[in-house]
Parts: sequence; structure tokens; C-alpha cells
Amino acid sequence: MVKGRLHSIETFGAVDGPGIRTVFFLQGCPARCLYCHNPDSWKIGAGSEVEAEDLVKRAKRGIPYYGDDGGVTFSGGEPLLQGEFLIEAIKALKKENINCAIDISGTYYDEFSHEAINQADLILLDIKHTNPREFTKITSRNQETLFKIIKDINELDKKVWIRQVIIPSINDTEEYIESLNEFIKQIGNVEKVELLGYHNMAISKYEKLGMDYRLKDVKPMDKDKLEKLNSLIKY
Ligand code: SF4
Repeated sequence: MVKGRLHSIETFGAVDGPGIRTVFFLQGCPARCLYCHNPDSWKIGAGSEVEAEDLVKRAKRGIPYYGDDGGVTFSGGEPLLQGEFLIEAIKALKKENINCAIDISGTYYDEFSHEAINQADLILLDIKHTNPREFTKITSRNQETLFKIIKDINELDKKVWIRQVIIPSINDTEEYIESLNEFIKQIGNVEKVELLGYHNMAISKYEKLGMDYRLKDVKPMDKDKLEKLNSLIKY
């Protein structure tokens, strides 16, 4: 039995996939995104140790609220970093007929990733940036992993919700949305595209952790502008 490391749990999550969901934030992330809200989830091996059955017990408490669309979402951190555990946990949840989504960042891929993607009912895929250099500037990772994930998603014909954080002065332009529309064309089964406006609510968390917040001069994303950009999305 593989053990996992858990950062935290959100019950009644309403923004990480369809319906009401129990969100398991797995510990550990190889990326260092400029705007990360959860820098405390980065450290590998921190958090609490769990087994798949612990997560099943927690998730079963939410069954009366999941309805037809809800279920469990694995987020992070980067869930694929614990691929072997993720596969075991999803299989155990699916035995209880609980729908499982994975919220992944495209910044990590290993020998377990294909099967983890295969087991998931829905993939929430964060694009970070369409341009490889900008992708690396934002995440400190190489975009190759994102393409490996897209290849698997297409091969396995998985349903996908695309997520894209829009950050003033980095990707808040109509040209960027055009490039995103082009980028998305290579992904087969896209059900939804969500543009998420950058905000800086994590600054105090960074201060408490004694860490440097690298976007402190960037203002939160303007709502009207985000709406306008949203109207340009095509998929
Ligand atoms: S991938 Fe997610 S958890 Fe990891 S650094 Fe980026 S925003 Fe944070």
C-alpha cells in the first residue's frame, strides 16, 4: 500500500470542477509559480501521511452533497508528483462510485502520470503560458511536460477543463488570448475554458513564511478586462 502526503482538505469545494466537491490538496510541487497561492504546499515530504482508504472515508462523508456532477478533486501542490498514490486513491474512490477530477499544472510528468490521467474522470489543466520561454519564467519548469500530458489526454480521450491565470502585464492581452485559442486546438475533448484573474491575496502568506513575493508590484486583474478577454475565448 502506497502512502501519500496530504497538504489539506477542502469540503464543499465549488470552484475546482463541476458540482460540490471534496478537494484533496496533495503535498509537494516541483514548480515555483510567480503567483502561487500555496507556497506551503511546495515542500516534498511535508504535510501529513495518508493512505487511500483515509481519503475514501473523508470523501464518503460528502456523498449526500455531490449530486450528479460533484465528487472529489485532487489538487496541490502538483498531484502527479505522487502518481502512484494518486492512482491507488482514485481507484479506491471509483469503487465507491465517486467521480474523480485531477487539477494539474503541466509542470511534472513521470512513469505514473499516464495511468493517473487514465484513471481520472476529468482533467483540470492549468496552461500557465502558451510560449515556452514565458512558461519557464512563470513556473521555473520546462513546457515539455505539458506536451506529454496533452499527448496522454488526447490518446485517452479525456474530458478537459482548461484553466489559465490572467496576469496584468504578463498575459492580459487580446494577442495572448488568440495564442491561447490556437494552443487549445491541439487538445481534443475540451469542455470548458476558465480564465482566472490574478489576485495578490497570498502576499501575507509569503510574509509569514519569510518568503519573497515576486509579483508585489502587479495589481490584481481588472474584472471588466477579464470579462472582455473571456468573450474572446474560442474552443
Ligand atoms: S503548480 Fe500550483 S502549487 Fe505548484 S507552484 Fe504553481 S501554482 Fe503553486
